[in-house]
Amino acid sequence: KRLGFAVVGLGELALGEVLPAFGRCKYARPTALVSGDRAKAEKVADQYGIGPEHIYDYQNFDRIADDPTVDVVYIILPNSMHREFTVRAAKAGKHVLCEKPMANTSAECEAMIAACESARRLLMIAYRCQYEPHHREMIRLARSGELGPIRMIEASNGQNQGPADQWRHKKALAGGGSLPDVGIYCLNAARYITGEEPVQVTAQIAVDPSDPRFREVEDRISFQLRFPSGVLAVCQSFYSAHESRRCRVLAEKGWIDMDPAFAYHGLRMKTSRARDEAELTTAIALPEHDQFALEMDHMARRVAAGERPHTPGEEGLQDIRIIEAIYRAAREGKPVDLAAVEARDATR
Ligand code: NAD
Repeated sequence: KRLGFAVVGLGELALGEVLPAFGRCKYARPTALVSGDRAKAEKVADQYGIGPEHIYDYQNFDRIADDPTVDVVYIILPNSMHREFTVRAAKAGKHVLCEKPMANTSAECEAMIAACESARRLLMIAYRCQYEPHHREMIRLARSGELGPIRMIEASNGQNQGPADQWRHKKALAGGGSLPDVGIYCLNAARYITGEEPVQVTAQIAVDPSDPRFREVEDRISFQLRFPSGVLAVCQSFYSAHESRRCRVLAEKGWIDMDPAFAYHGLRMKTSRARDEAELTTAIALPEHDQFALEMDHMARRVAAGERPHTPGEEGLQDIRIIEAIYRAAREGKPVDLAAVEARDATR
């Protein structure tokens, strides 16, 4: 049986990626829409075979409690609205799949986790890359020991981020600039590749003060993470340079490179190692999968089984805690130590 998903927010990601991805899902289907624009919602509902009685707005959203076609609420709104709609969805008795970044502050993340726990509903953060086969293979190979111990991770994610009048450039709505929006992929990757939690961060921010996009949020940020095993991750995100989305793992005897790594499509991976005094570089060719379909199917299967998803609220909270430390390190111009966090389950 396919579980029913309500899509909250009909913006670029919802219309361009998530709704089309249901066509490639085995366990999830769209059964309701939540939008501030009734006419747009009716058009989209018609396109996906959703009856008009399953269209909600932000005010009457709580009525979704009485909609038996909805098992999961998928929140695809500006970051500052994630907490409110997660809490309301949980109170309505629905499981929640919430876009990254989980929220603007760690306190908001904690409130979201608490709301889902007390309603006994599951909460998953939509870290699509963690469900994607190239990333799964990168994790496997990096941790297999075949290339020797991991020494460094280099990750970069960014693009020229359009006009100044969008929510991504407003601190109250976005929480920050490129770091919580796209830099979070580098941070999350460094954590899932090593399977460790960073113990120290340093960071530098650069902004052109004459650019109206960056009055409230950062443009370029470079941040470094030190992990307990000694691995250093050197990461960067930006809103003012040509698109770049790559990730490279440097191990003692070889490297793994994915470029692009954080894009929706066309991921490419290769590995290189010394062999017989020559360098052997091989492509790791894997079939392309719709990352949103994989992620939604995962949520649907975990809900059906009553099991915690692979990227639960705690995973989102941990990234936001580290992002808060990264901002502090940049502001104070010195390293920030992170409280020791329990090592993550090695199977993750
Ligand atoms: P978007 O601006 O295209 O869409 C946001 C939607 O929210 C719009 O339909 C808008 O009408 C609605 N909205 C409601 N209240 C609003 C308000 N006060 N201000 C602005 N919009 C409001 O944004 P998007 O790119 O679809 O991003 C939505 C969420 O999805 C964000 O949390 C973002 O980080 C996340 N996202 C994730 C990925 C991914 O790859 N997983 C990619 C893009 C975006």
